[in-house]
Amino acid sequence: MISTPITGNAADPVTDFRSKATLGVAVAAIVFMLPMGLYDLMRGETAIGIGAMAVVFVLLANAWMALRGVCHQSLTLFGLFPAGMIFMTSIFHMDGIIASLWCFPIVLAAYCMLSERRAWLANITILVIALPMAWMTMESTYALRVTTSLGAVSLFSAILVNVIDGQRHQLQKQLILDPLTGLLNRLTYNECMEKAVRLHRRYQQPVSLLAIDIDNFKRLNDTQGHAAGDSVLRTAGQLLRDTLRDEDAIFRMGGEEFTVVLKGANETAAVETAERLRHAVATADFQGAHQVTISIGVATLRADESWERWAKRSDDSLYDAKRKGRNRVVLNRTIETTERSAVTLASIT
Ligand code: GH3
Ligand code: MG
Ligand code: MG
Repeated sequence: MISTPITGNAADPVTDFRSKATLGVAVAAIVFMLPMGLYDLMRGETAIGIGAMAVVFVLLANAWMALRGVCHQSLTLFGLFPAGMIFMTSIFHMDGIIASLWCFPIVLAAYCMLSERRAWLANITILVIALPMAWMTMESTYALRVTTSLGAVSLFSAILVNVIDGQRHQLQKQLILDPLTGLLNRLTYNECMEKAVRLHRRYQQPVSLLAIDIDNFKRLNDTQGHAAGDSVLRTAGQLLRDTLRDEDAIFRMGGEEFTVVLKGANETAAVETAERLRHAVATADFQGAHQVTISIGVATLRADESWERWAKRSDDSLYDAKRKGRNRVVLNRTIETTERSAVTLASIT
């Protein structure tokens, strides 16, 4: 189980090649298709000319949206490919085998611009239109070659995109997850906090933060070795995952420090959850390590509070928990920015 940020849709730090490909295809359309479309219109080939211009227009619209950070694949699927098909069927009637050459870049463009499943759909549509056209307009020996070569290009493109997408997802996972614990690392933390504040302001849903730190971890490392320390971190990460809900975002902030964003949790719920966590760790079997405990600072987001200030309040409470003897949960009840009153809720020392 991978904990996901509160965004519900982890940011994609690995740039999707599709928006770049969309720009590239648009440039190719201006350079190659636009002059050809204009030429066809001038020599009276209206259907071909209009088809080519429609393809160029949709590609430019796509590129414009990609530049603005929007990748509207439905426009490509339902606008570009029908326009491409009109263009293709017209030139098939006119140019036969030569026209079939256009099918190859169109298949490749589908895999460059569309998500994998949509590209399959577009590819199947191209084959369903192009192959019968090939058999109707060409000698069977040519039609057979067009069928096999177009089928092969479709298959190889599908395999290639499947491999690229698989590697991209793997890379994205490695980028946002901490390798030791499998929890989220800091990369998506700021974004998750900003999103939590935005959602809170829009829907007034309570949201709380837990700042967690393993107690006396340096001593554990020093007495039992770094490998034992790593094992404790792994087990602690697993306990956090097991105790919290899937929608809670759990970050390893570095070293033996963790942060949890509890969506929908008010002060009472957040303190209850923190207590459950603290108890789960204090009573867990850490395989040979002496008893491991954690201290937790809790802060519930206030109206009009920045995420930095919210995080600072949870850190302050964590510091209080340490100062008061560790293995405890401290709730931060700051209302005024100048006044801070932390309330100790539980302690076992
Ligand atoms: P406190 O109760 O006040 O939090 O004390 P502490 O000893 O836990 O805190 P301190 O910040 O002094 O020590 C943290 C230690 O965590 C120091 C560092 O060597 C260790 N550490 C940081 N990252 C890792 C890691 O990835 N693996 C291991 N085994 N140790 C780590
Ligand atoms: Mg510590
Ligand atoms: Mg620490």
